Amino acid sequence: MSETIYDVAIIGGGPAGLTAAIYSGRALLKTVVIEKMMTGGQAAITHWVDNYPGFPDGVAGPELMELFEKQARRFDAEIKFATVNKIRPEKEYKVIDLGNETIKTKIVIIATGAQPRKLGVPGEKELLGKGVSYCATCDGAFFRDVEVAVVGGGDSAVKEAIFLTKFASKVYVIHRRDELRAEKITAQEAFENEKIEFVYDTIVEEIVGDMGVKAVKIKNVKDGSVKELPLEGVFMFVGMLPNSDFLEGFIELDKQGYIIADRDTHTGTAGVFAAGDVRKKLSRQIATAVGDGATAAMAAEECIAGHCFIE
Ligand code: NAP
Repeated sequence: MSETIYDVAIIGGGPAGLTAAIYSGRALLKTVVIEKMMTGGQAAITHWVDNYPGFPDGVAGPELMELFEKQARRFDAEIKFATVNKIRPEKEYKVIDLGNETIKTKIVIIATGAQPRKLGVPGEKELLGKGVSYCATCDGAFFRDVEVAVVGGGDSAVKEAIFLTKFASKVYVIHRRDELRAEKITAQEAFENEKIEFVYDTIVEEIVGDMGVKAVKIKNVKDGSVKELPLEGVFMFVGMLPNSDFLEGFIELDKQGYIIADRDTHTGTAGVFAAGDVRKKLSRQIATAVGDGATAAMAAEECIAGHCFIE
């Protein structure tokens, strides 16, 4: 088994991880980013990013993340595609188990982000890829001139509903309450879009179909009435779950699995930092992930220099 020693190992190659890599590489620390599948994280599957500073007209998510990666590579950050099984402390190092390889590192920055929460209704699993999707950017174009639904009332649901109107003839936004969680500016744009119809106070009980989605069975939570809404696609945006399973027993997580870290992103374990959506915090934006990534890398540099301060 081969073994390489790094100063900084960053787990996750989204906005937080790649920013940490830019700062760490630029500080001349031997840096590796370990990414499971594809760099860019959720931002790379976001059709359009309108609130990231420096792009006054907005920017496509995949394009923005390509720029992040290019910048990280310019500062010699290595990018390794592998899945982390476990991390364990060993003397002054942390040992990262990648299955067929182990990595030794002085510092670990965890930036594994979060993944879409499942709704957990009959038909969801069975019809995945046959009309059920968690990514409008990936699958939206398959739904030209047909009716689809988006489930959820947060920023993701409303933004992706707007995006889906480029293809679908109609987009229902099915939300369990009568008030959206999404930002007002995004909600306003959706209200003005004639192709979007909001279905409030309603939950999805079942996704109906066989070879493809044919309808959703919905229930009005106020009057208890149940009906089927015929459509061909259902996009779920009902929140996120942190990608932190592999960390259990290694660092402190909250009840939902988010990593608990201090103001400088240091977890309770010396030399282990947490950045971006996987961390317990108020706002989960590309801009705040970038802030976390930069903070983590700078605190890591201090830690290597012997000032490993935990608040
Ligand atoms: P979110 O803000 O947590 O919203 C999840 C939505 O799903 C809520 O409306 C919630 O309803 C609903 N929901 C949760 N569980 C449900 C269930 N079992 N059945 C039905 N509905 C359910 O998640 P998000 O929209 O994915 O956003 C995640 C984070 O990323 C947020 O901080 C968000 O601001 C950020 N984000 C920002 C942007 C941007 O452009 N600025 C874009 C995307 C995401 P309730 O409202 O009733 O709880």
